[in-house]
Amino acid sequence: MIIVMESQASAAQIQHVSSKLQEKGFQVHLSQGIERTIIGAIGQRTQATQDLFETLPGVEKVVPIAQPFKLASRQFKQERTRVQVGSITIGGRDFQIIAGPCAVEGRTKYLEIAQAVKEAGATMLRGGAFKPRTSPYSFQGLEKEGLKILAEAREITGLPVITEIMDPRHLDEVASYADILQVGARNMQNYFLLRELGRLQHPILLKRGPSATIEEWIMAAEYIISSGNPNVIMCERGIRTFDSYTRNTLDISAVPVIKQLTHMPIIVDPSHGTGKWKLVEPMSLAAVGAGADGIMVEVHQNPSEALSDGPQSLTPENFARMVKKIKNLHLLLNNNGEQ
Ligand code: PEP
Ligand code: MN
Repeated sequence: MIIVMESQASAAQIQHVSSKLQEKGFQVHLSQGIERTIIGAIGQRTQATQDLFETLPGVEKVVPIAQPFKLASRQFKQERTRVQVGSITIGGRDFQIIAGPCAVEGRTKYLEIAQAVKEAGATMLRGGAFKPRTSPYSFQGLEKEGLKILAEAREITGLPVITEIMDPRHLDEVASYADILQVGARNMQNYFLLRELGRLQHPILLKRGPSATIEEWIMAAEYIISSGNPNVIMCERGIRTFDSYTRNTLDISAVPVIKQLTHMPIIVDPSHGTGKWKLVEPMSLAAVGAGADGIMVEVHQNPSEALSDGPQSLTPENFARMVKKIKNLHLLLNNNGEQ
C-alpha cells in the first residue's frame, strides 16, 4: 500500500508512520516529493492495518496497490526516473542512441567502430564481452579482454559503455569496467542474478524476455529495485510470436504501456527486435514516435563478416543517415526542444 502524507505533515509524523509500519512487518520506502511525502509500504496489507494507518496524525490517505509490482509502479512514484550515466541522462529530454557491434571482436576493430559511431552521433557504446549464444559452438565473446577493450574505448571517446552481465560470478569484474550492465533477454527471469544486481548502484538495462508478458518484465525490474538499486532502464527487444519472417516481433506498444504503468525509462532495441538491418531505421523512428527514451542498435564496419548478428547490423554509413532522421523527428515531436 501507499501512504500519502498531508502536505504539511511534520518530519516527526513521517517518522512515526515509518516506525509503525516497520513494527507491523512492512518494508518502508520513502519518496520525498516537492509537494508531499509518499511512503511505500511493502508487506501484507489487511483492512485493519489500512484503517489503523488512516487514523495516524499527518496521514492524508492510504491507497492499496492492486498490481503485483509496487516500487516500479507509477502509483508509487509519479515523477519519472532519470538514470544518470556520467553526463548523460536516460529518461530526460534527450533521446539516447546506444550503438556498437553485437560483440567486441578485437581491439583495433572495436576502437575503430566506437570512433565511427561517436562521429555519427551515438551517445553511448555497446559491445558484448560475454555472449549468450544459442549454440555452444558459436563465438562466445572475448570475456575479460573484451571488457578491457570497452574501457579503453570509453577512455578514448568519452562515451559511457554498456555490456551484458550473464553470471553473478562475474558481477564485480563487469561492474568495474562497464557504466551500464545489461541483463539479456535470456536472463530476464534469473531472479538470483537480478537480486545481486540490486546490490549495485550501476544502472541496469533490463531486456524483455523473449516470451515475457509486460507484467513479468516489470516484476523482474521489481526484483532489482526492491533489492536496493532504483536505476533500472527497460529495453523492449522483441518477443516471440508465430511469425518467422522477422527474428522477433518488436512490441512498440510496450513503450507507452511501460510509461503508463511505471516511472522507469524505456529504450528500444530494433536490431534484435527485427533481426534485419533494413528494418532497423523504420523501427527506430517508430520508437521515437512511441515516446521511447532511446534506442540501442548494432553497427559493424563489415556486417557480412561479423562474428555475431551480422544480418541485423547497420554499416556506419547507414547508421549515420539514420541518426540524422532520428534527430529531426525527435526535435519535431518534442516541440523543437521545448518539452
Ligand atoms: C545483445 O544485446 O547482444 C543480446 C544478446 O540481446 P538479447 O539479450 O536481447 O537477445
Ligand atoms: Mn546481438
